[in-house]
Amino acid sequence: MRYINKILTIEKIRVQDIAKKFGTPVYCYSYKQLKENISNFKKNFNSFSPLICFAVKSNTNVSIIKEIRKLGLGADVVSMGELMVALKAGIKPKKIVFSGVGKTAAEINYAIDKKILLINAESKSEIIEIERIAKSKNKIVDIGIRLNPNTDAKTLKQISTGKKENKFGVDEKTFFKLVNYSKNSKSIDLKCLSVHIGSQILDHKPYEKMLDVVDKIVKKSNYRFDFIDLGGGMGISYENNKKKLNYKKYNIAIKRFLKNHTSKIIFEPGRSIVGNIGSLISKVIYIKENNKKDFIILDAAMNDLMRPALYGANHKTLPAFKTNQISQKTYDFVGPICESTDKFTTLKKFQKLKEKDLIIMCDVGAYGMSLSSNYNVRPKPIEILIKGSKINIIKQRQKLKDLI
Ligand SMILES: *Cc1c(COP(=O)(O)O)cnc(C)c1O
Repeated sequence: MRYINKILTIEKIRVQDIAKKFGTPVYCYSYKQLKENISNFKKNFNSFSPLICFAVKSNTNVSIIKEIRKLGLGADVVSMGELMVALKAGIKPKKIVFSGVGKTAAEINYAIDKKILLINAESKSEIIEIERIAKSKNKIVDIGIRLNPNTDAKTLKQISTGKKENKFGVDEKTFFKLVNYSKNSKSIDLKCLSVHIGSQILDHKPYEKMLDVVDKIVKKSNYRFDFIDLGGGMGISYENNKKKLNYKKYNIAIKRFLKNHTSKIIFEPGRSIVGNIGSLISKVIYIKENNKKDFIILDAAMNDLMRPALYGANHKTLPAFKTNQISQKTYDFVGPICESTDKFTTLKKFQKLKEKDLIIMCDVGAYGMSLSSNYNVRPKPIEILIKGSKINIIKQRQKLKDLI
């Protein structure tokens, strides 16, 4: 995405032309960026060729996942719906892992019938349930156990998952008990230790700590795991010049770990694969200037992009057409929804705006559309995928008549 003669352009398409053709708001993805992200991700870890399972919850569009599949990735899913999406996108069951603390009997049944690679269990009760269902089908089911390594990911508390107070995984003591339990079961085959310590992680040190814990526990359990699933969580830079995750150091730590272990590594990245491929194009409906504060009211809202309201996230915000006239005012960029948290960002010295101008929020490819809702009976936006000078509609805008 760049300005060509002051006009914001995604690959070879001008943002203003997208808005004209499809209306606003629009979720718009770049294929070129997706391809580059996947190729970089693979390069970072190419010495041990991991199985890379895309975390479907970050972007559930079947067409996007099809492209991801063609670029060689599998899938990490957290519900029956996501498993169906992954299968629909053509991902081979043997490249799918199923995570989550609350898989229902129906979900476990479905996963077993589809013969996916691993069900990563997160409690003793879940293992007993998997065992019961496997037995009833006369099958042996491959599972992983998710360890809670009690590692602080040093990220936002809302997206931290690897500390002992989080609901995810089991503690060390329980882990050893469950390894023993699984060893003696005729219906489950323990193949994997999994961890996932959180999201938007920009510091490699929590990953190093996590690997130290995993190393210690695998040695102590005296059990050979075919797979070690390290989860995802790799952060991206949402603002210019912000910190970047040091993949080299993470890679070095994993290679050090693999000197003592022969397991295959699995990753479950979401954000790092799709985060920066997406933009949300919206239009200024009104400019409202109050005594105390001035507002840019957009036609996109928290139902379309929830991250600012949910996590206090801030997305880089750009005009579709650049001028050199800077406003001296401070504006809140808000949506039309009846909630005070329906606010995207506050910007000083943004360029002067008029009603009907187009505003683009960047890096919304992960946890953007997938977290969207129909709050206020607002239809979800159209999604398009740009490949060079071609535009593919990959999801139609919802119609009001289908919502009512
Ligand atoms: C959310 C999640 C991921 C993906 O996290 P990202 O930060 O998007 O890479 C991977 N694994 C599990 C178990 C998750 O819950």
